[in-house]
Amino acid sequence: MVIRVLPPELVNQIAAGEVIERPASVVKELAENSIDAGASTVAIEVERGGVGLIRVRDDGRGMEKDELPLAVARHATSKIAVFDDLESLVTLGFRGEALPSVASVSRLSVASRTADAGHGWKISVIDGAVGPPEPVAHPVGTTVEVRDLFFNVPARRKFVRAETTEQQHIARVTERLALTRFDAGFELKIKGKVVLKVPPAADRMQREQRVAQVCGEEFLEHAFYIEHAAAGMRLTGWLAAPTFSRSQSDLQYFSVNGRLVRDRMLGNAVRVGYRDVLFQGRHPAYLLALELDSRAVDCNAHPQKLEVRFRDPRSVNDFILHTVQHALAATRPAGGVAGSADRASLFPARNDPSLALPVGLPPQLGMPLAEPVASYRAEAAHTHAPVTPRAIDSAAPPLGYAIAQLHGVYVLAQTADGLVLVDMHAAHERVVYERLKKSLNGAALAHQRLLVPVTLAVSRDEAELAERERGEFARLGFEIDRIDRDQLAVRQVPAIFADRDVAPIVRDVLADLREHGTSRRFIEGTNELLATIACHAAVRAHRDLTLAEMNALLREMESTERADQCNHGRPTWTRITMQELDRLFLRGR
Ligand code: ADP
Ligand code: MG
Repeated sequence: MVIRVLPPELVNQIAAGEVIERPASVVKELAENSIDAGASTVAIEVERGGVGLIRVRDDGRGMEKDELPLAVARHATSKIAVFDDLESLVTLGFRGEALPSVASVSRLSVASRTADAGHGWKISVIDGAVGPPEPVAHPVGTTVEVRDLFFNVPARRKFVRAETTEQQHIARVTERLALTRFDAGFELKIKGKVVLKVPPAADRMQREQRVAQVCGEEFLEHAFYIEHAAAGMRLTGWLAAPTFSRSQSDLQYFSVNGRLVRDRMLGNAVRVGYRDVLFQGRHPAYLLALELDSRAVDCNAHPQKLEVRFRDPRSVNDFILHTVQHALAATRPAGGVAGSADRASLFPARNDPSLALPVGLPPQLGMPLAEPVASYRAEAAHTHAPVTPRAIDSAAPPLGYAIAQLHGVYVLAQTADGLVLVDMHAAHERVVYERLKKSLNGAALAHQRLLVPVTLAVSRDEAELAERERGEFARLGFEIDRIDRDQLAVRQVPAIFADRDVAPIVRDVLADLREHGTSRRFIEGTNELLATIACHAAVRAHRDLTLAEMNALLREMESTERADQCNHGRPTWTRITMQELDRLFLRGR
């Protein structure tokens, strides 16, 4: 074989192999061109799964007669002119490859008209030959028609799946664009039937309507809107509550400067932001848009432009992680009502040490943990005359006042508008965990020396690990010595365990340490250890609580970040309103 320059048609077909994987890729390229042309409506029509026909019509700025042949020429683009333009891209396209690629594997026509032109012009490309522009009646904007896709590429054609499969891909591509580009309206017609139609969405309400339509009402019901800007970056969108987590990562959308990407770094930053409140193996649901100076991001880093490269990935990562973390931290009962002036005046007993009774924790805590929890003068005083809180009104705390404990598992509380049910253990575990995290911040956990050290038989591996991680244990409040090949002596424990059976706790912490290895990132590892400790420290089911203790727990939940979910992302409480109860009993009010 001799070396030869390939004919342009073949070059285009090779290029098409990269860009045009299946009919949905054509839809994506054409719709992106429409968006780049400033269209406010993009209408897509599809026949035979896109193999028969793909027609994309827009009301963008259109093309002049002379531009049409250039549009389908390879490496011809209006979006960049010099190398430096690549650095500050604001358009979705820029390589000038899509139209020639599509043309090389289909029968293509482009009809277009600009606002200045009296009528439109149309060109067709057949078997690589670009015909002359012909006048045509066309409104301002562009219509691209692609017929018989892959008719001349049998190899590709074999990979096209059933019509319904390709239709699904096309619908997905359109939805993804719709979720990223609220500035445009979209319409998708499959076999003459409108399957998606969304108008341009200018304000938040319209956007949420679109999100509900595309992602489902359920997502929006469980999601909250975030908007945060710092250090030249802006993150907006919707985060689903951790309780809405999914077994798959199918409801995750992230766009950078209006381009949807599947970037590992970005996905990871969000995941870590959720980590604290999500059960392992569950996936958060979100729709996020990051905006930043276009010069700070390189979109030309991936053949399908699915990944981007940031000039300063670290700061982007930190910004996203912290924004997500912070937003999730705000998910507590009634979102931040706790700690308001009302409460302070209602419950002046907050600092009265005689009432400070941390639920389920031994009273002798000599550590930050012992910070008195909110207790109730009223309830504490009436512990023996179970309260029927008459004076419940809108000033009542969000989680109300405890009235009973159900089967030793749930706390029932009366609120201004009905009933609240709290999973006692889950809620307390979260409260303790957050408190531990706060108190560990910088310092070591308060500890207590055991009068008699506890000896513990462990495996050799575990003994070595305990020896190696002595410092880590010390930070958590443990003092553990290896006294034999397979024997440990526990001399000191975190104060919260002062009167507990320490053996199972130490074993659990060891298991955690082993699982995460010594290379684990310090903070992450610590948080997981704290979660283990919190689980042990939390009040167990079937322990009887007094009303005062129950109320203390409710008040603590109100002032604890992320108290809406336990450490595993399960809900900690739920509400049943009087209306719902009335409905249950068919009681008209
Ligand atoms: P790119 O989008 O990378 O520039 P394309 O091959 O997709 O490359 O398009 C080539 C050029 O044709 C674009 O740069 C643009 O000027 C023009 N063009 C394509 N589609 C449209 C459209 N729908 N409306 C207006 N101009 C278009
Ligand atoms: Mg393009």
